[in-house]
Amino acid sequence: PLILGIETSCDETGIGVVRGHTLLADAVASSVEEHARFGGVVPEVASRAHLEAMVPTLERACETAGIQLRDVDAIAVTSGPGLAGALMVGVAAAKALAVGLGKPIYGVNHLAAHVAVDQLEHGPLPEPCLALLVSGGHSSLLRVTDVTTGVDPLGATIDDAAGEAFDKVARLLGLPFPGGPHIDRAARDGDSVYVDFPRGLTSRKDLERHRFDFSFSGLKTAVARWVEARERSGEPVPVNDVAASFQEAVCDVLTRKAIDAAVTEGIEDILIGGGVAANSRLRAMAEERAAARGIRVRVPRPGLCTDNGAMVAALGSEMVRRGRTPSALDLPADSSLPVTEVLV
Ligand code: ATP
Ligand code: MG
Ligand code: FE
Repeated sequence: PLILGIETSCDETGIGVVRGHTLLADAVASSVEEHARFGGVVPEVASRAHLEAMVPTLERACETAGIQLRDVDAIAVTSGPGLAGALMVGVAAAKALAVGLGKPIYGVNHLAAHVAVDQLEHGPLPEPCLALLVSGGHSSLLRVTDVTTGVDPLGATIDDAAGEAFDKVARLLGLPFPGGPHIDRAARDGDSVYVDFPRGLTSRKDLERHRFDFSFSGLKTAVARWVEARERSGEPVPVNDVAASFQEAVCDVLTRKAIDAAVTEGIEDILIGGGVAANSRLRAMAEERAAARGIRVRVPRPGLCTDNGAMVAALGSEMVRRGRTPSALDLPADSSLPVTEVLV
């Protein structure tokens, strides 16, 4: 079956076309540049950008896939979580298509879609697997027994998301938004042990209550303090070294907890997704540390890690393949959809 996926949870308007595990088109229009001068995503700006981008992106996806809309067998759309107004645009478009074409609609969870997308690159998902999802809005560890019905949270951030920390620290260092790729690049020429930044929620006491949770706001504050002290002393800030030391602290905690969770749960496959999964140090460290424990790591290529429509189509494709019941036509856009609700 041919599945069309629609993603509008944040600042990317994504339309993907998938047949089985095969990706036919992945058209993405991002409004990230419109948010850059605000240093973060502005919800109203994102909603309006989705409205403007929806039809052209849909046309581009169909053209790339070489299909007509009437060829589509089912529509999948991100129902949540995300920005309420942004989600509404995608859900409304999906409903219009479903009604117009007379095809079933599947309202799916954005986080599960970040997991399902890996199938398009590396084939059938290993189940169970342990998913580490790290993006601008989320940082979670999930146990995935069935990507269409069984996604359970083991832990999540208690304050900032990992990508948010990258973006805020980049700003402190005078690097452009979004900061992740810039920190990644600066860190390549930096010394990762130049500053010993704190590893959030790793003390013995914190581990008792927050074994698989993350905290990045203390790290961000530590970087801010360090940079301020350096500036007060009149010495230049070694941007590459601070970037490398910060990145090392984030990757250390993410990989340590992901591997601990996999070992504890007896899971042999870790899947990393979300925009931060594009980070070169995170990929290298995860592979090295997991291999030492006999655990495999799968990371989709960077273009599939950041928000896109292909991931939604990939999850929709699994819903159809596994015979799940489609959503009702009045399905909601739910900004706080819990991760356990994979299909609404
Ligand atoms: P959501 O959280 O809803 O998925 P989002 O738009 O914030 O939405 P993504 O598009 O998946 O999430 O990811 C964007 C984030 O990924 C940004 O915070 C960005 O800085 C970060 N990022 C992108 N590339 C890298 C990289 N190479 N290293 C570290 N962080 C990166
Ligand atoms: Mg984004
Ligand atoms: Fe996302």
